[in-house]
Amino acid sequence: MTPEEALRKRWGYDSFKPFQREAVEAALSGRDCLVVLPTGGGKSLCYQLPAAMGQGLVLVVSPLIALMDDQVAAAREAGLAADALHSNLEADHRGEAARRLAAGKTDVLYVSPERLLVGDLMEGISARLVLIAVDEAHCVSHWGHEFRPEYRRLAEVLERFPETARMALTATATPEVQEDVCAQLALREPARLIGHPDRANLIYRAFPRRDQVGQVREVVRRHPGEGGIVYAQTRRDVERLAARLAGAGISCAAYHAGLPADHRRRVQADFVNERLDIVVATVAFGMGIDRSNVRYVVHANTPRSVEHYQQESGRAGRDGLPAECVLLFAASDLAAHRGLARKDGVLAPERQRALERQLRQIGRYAVAPVCRHRLLAEHFGAPYPPEGVGRDGEVCGACDVCLDETKRLAAEEALLTAKKVLSGAWRADGRFGTGHVVNLLMGRADERMKRIGHDALEVFGLLKESGETAVRSWVDQLIVQGFLETVEEREYPLLRITDAGKALCRGEGTVRLGVPAPPAERAKKRPKTPARGTALGLPADEELFECLRRLRRLIAEGLGVPPYVVFHDSALVEMAAVKPRTPEALLGVRGVGERKLERYGAAFLKVISGRTPEAAAGLGEGTPEDS
Ligand code: ADP
Ligand code: MG
Repeated sequence: MTPEEALRKRWGYDSFKPFQREAVEAALSGRDCLVVLPTGGGKSLCYQLPAAMGQGLVLVVSPLIALMDDQVAAAREAGLAADALHSNLEADHRGEAARRLAAGKTDVLYVSPERLLVGDLMEGISARLVLIAVDEAHCVSHWGHEFRPEYRRLAEVLERFPETARMALTATATPEVQEDVCAQLALREPARLIGHPDRANLIYRAFPRRDQVGQVREVVRRHPGEGGIVYAQTRRDVERLAARLAGAGISCAAYHAGLPADHRRRVQADFVNERLDIVVATVAFGMGIDRSNVRYVVHANTPRSVEHYQQESGRAGRDGLPAECVLLFAASDLAAHRGLARKDGVLAPERQRALERQLRQIGRYAVAPVCRHRLLAEHFGAPYPPEGVGRDGEVCGACDVCLDETKRLAAEEALLTAKKVLSGAWRADGRFGTGHVVNLLMGRADERMKRIGHDALEVFGLLKESGETAVRSWVDQLIVQGFLETVEEREYPLLRITDAGKALCRGEGTVRLGVPAPPAERAKKRPKTPARGTALGLPADEELFECLRRLRRLIAEGLGVPPYVVFHDSALVEMAAVKPRTPEALLGVRGVGERKLERYGAAFLKVISGRTPEAAAGLGEGTPEDS
């Protein structure tokens, strides 16, 4: 069997995604490799396919115990003899897995780092072991965003299998982290298979936060009946936001680490099994979530770094279909992150500098009127647009800037506007907060303003016509570009012009400013989320799609696995468009392999030919011959 044949027979795919073939070949030829592919890039297949070719045992180290059972279920759907060993396993399952392993029947074994470090597995498996894959390999690096001490000790284990090829896989790695992964896992002249980080199916939007609940609601309303995650900063933010969304008639559940374990388990299970569409959560929600048809991720507060943003927003659209990522930015969120970081005492200078750099970067991402796809790609050291992809200039067609929802001011107008904002801050002399400077520029005189005579300043009301949202956003934009800064004095953040800002006022330097298009104007232009089928260039039969989805859920519930293990949305979309009538035709749908055809083909064909999902699943409500 060639890799292509295995891909077609076992998974039902007709071509490799970028770098999958190279990774498989490296593994088969015994070479170490580093695989960096974005979420949804198909990393699992890189190590599962060698196992499918019957060469021996593939050991997969993964920190995500909560996901392992689902990964095992998915591997079994491709016909692999897969098992997992970790501390959460019930004793009898553990016994069975160990027996199969000892009998040499296992193709893929998932294990947690803790379990592996116990050390007792080694003897039994060394003869059959052909590959050790380390998933989520960024966890080995201090520079990454999820350092795990146990990962550091993996090298000890790897050392004991000098003959075995190693494969390290991760989705988010800056060049710095890539180096660290290679060094920590002692990869030997590894093939470096670095995919482009861009997620072309995601639409990125970043707006100044004006009305958190209203803005979140606007996104949710664009996605009726679809899965979405709303991230907020603190537990209190989560509860408040969930309550207010519920008050606005949106059914959702709250999730954060402070809620009882059984509540959290239920929310997670309901979400993955598609009984629940919307979760409002802290970042505690997500590491173990593999629902592939999450159609939107909203950050109601600013995340802590661009890496975090990439990881968290990346949970949208793993199935490759269009999805939307929205970030609502306020400079006050950055201050809150500083506060949280210092909660346990003063930071070491090095940590402090790293934190400030991260906050500056995410702030810049959120407010700079520059193509968001480009900003993200460049952050991860990749050119945008990706080489060989013919797109002109910055028009990705999939972010608020390129969709003209955020307008970029022409250079001269940007400079003029920046000078106005800066002169307001300059006149306030670094003794006031952002609110005061905004009021000054808006020409709004309160008691204090009058008392200190600021209402008589030349700059008073200078930007009255622009509207508060724009003025606030400009202040933020000038902060992230280093023309303004906030300095804390007795816990109170004061706004101050920097030397670069003063220079800009003299006409030295360049500045970019954007302005959110007013909602009314935006509404006309905003493309709806593209219809599901358009990603495949096919017309979609939404009604049939929903029926297929219902059948999938019934089957998944019967088997006790998440729906995506049965079929991904993309396979259902293709079925709903092509409407295959025979098993052979169904096999032609991407994602339908021989085993899945055998197990589920008949039921899906019934729904395509007009039966109800309940009848097709053999649950009654059907015509007599079905029951
Ligand atoms: P990652 O771990 O990189 O986030 P996964 O391994 O979970 O990605 O794969 C993401 C999705 O892509 C899965 O649904 C998988 O079945 C699908 N996939 C993998 N390889 C291919 C391929 N060659 N063609 C089409 N779909 C693929
Ligand atoms: Mg993965």
